[in-house]
Amino acid sequence: MHRVMIHPATYDDCRSAVDRAFALFPQDVAGKKVAIKPNVLRASRADEHIVTHPALLRAVVDKVEGMSPSSIVVGDNPGLFGYGDNEKSFEETGLMAAAKGHYRNFGDSTKRLALNPEFMPEVGVSSDILEADIFISLPKFKTHGLTVMTGAVKNSYGILPGAQKSRLHQIAGTPERFHDVIVDVFRLRVPDLFIMDAVVGMEGNGPASPELREIGCILASENAVALDAVVARMMGLDPGRLRFLQKAKAMGLGDFDAERIALAGEMPALPGFKIPPLGGEAILGNPAIQEMMAAKTRVRPQADPALCTACGACIDQCPVAALTMAEAVPVADPEVCITCFCCQEICPEKAMTLR
Ligand code: SF4
Ligand code: SF4
Repeated sequence: MHRVMIHPATYDDCRSAVDRAFALFPQDVAGKKVAIKPNVLRASRADEHIVTHPALLRAVVDKVEGMSPSSIVVGDNPGLFGYGDNEKSFEETGLMAAAKGHYRNFGDSTKRLALNPEFMPEVGVSSDILEADIFISLPKFKTHGLTVMTGAVKNSYGILPGAQKSRLHQIAGTPERFHDVIVDVFRLRVPDLFIMDAVVGMEGNGPASPELREIGCILASENAVALDAVVARMMGLDPGRLRFLQKAKAMGLGDFDAERIALAGEMPALPGFKIPPLGGEAILGNPAIQEMMAAKTRVRPQADPALCTACGACIDQCPVAALTMAEAVPVADPEVCITCFCCQEICPEKAMTLR
């Protein structure tokens, strides 16, 4: 039986939820090396809620400091290509200050691990994570255009530094196969504890949507599949239809069945929660929508001319060079685009939408 904690919280008081998480899921921290990984998608303001809120990170760092670890490192691998915007992303979001001097650039050093020959035989994984005795993941409660939701399993995609992330998007080629990729990456080093920021979540066109949702809680678990299953149910989704959870369960990484999950706390209702335009259904095996996806009417990214500043960031980040600038907005070539939504993820103006 898996356990998932749901604890009421605000950003002024994350500590009581963090204390309860460590009480429910004890970690033997004394004398150990601890790595803490928030979700740092890209440089942004904390109040955009694109990243894990610094208040939660600070509460976790405070808690771990008080447990006499031998060392603490805090970091992530933001972006799809660059190694250079790591510090900028931590500074701008307020996560650098919240890390209290424990920040490390997780892109500085890697070790090679076998992945899956179907995608890439080997990948480089951040050494700071692999060398840690205890790995604490701090995901954010958000929707995601490609995987429907981003949570505990998807947060581990950031254990890969730099361009490997975009290369895997390219090799995966379809949303379905990308679900498999994120599980293959997740199992390289399964975190020991997950504490999720669901004080303010994100709905709609995530993972960088302007549509925020007050939820008012922090979730925690030792099992990512069970935690993501609870998040899916809160969003109004059936976790059993999410391909990455199906695969994770098949690989013995956890269970999403409600009978196999004991809740410590009340699951809040989120009526009318908006899931991404693909509606989840397109990647959950609905044959009619699969057909639509394969046809010319396929969903494609489009830049909103009213918001786009023609900065070119999406063109630089597209893993298959599908975007070109046309009359001051980027346009995707439908024959080349692999519907990875990296352009949407990276756009600083939230101008890229799925149509
Ligand atoms: S990243 Fe956003 S703002 Fe920049 S060119 Fe692309 S759509 Fe426009
Ligand atoms: S245009 Fe956007 S969605 Fe299409 S392949 Fe490029 S980054 Fe991915």
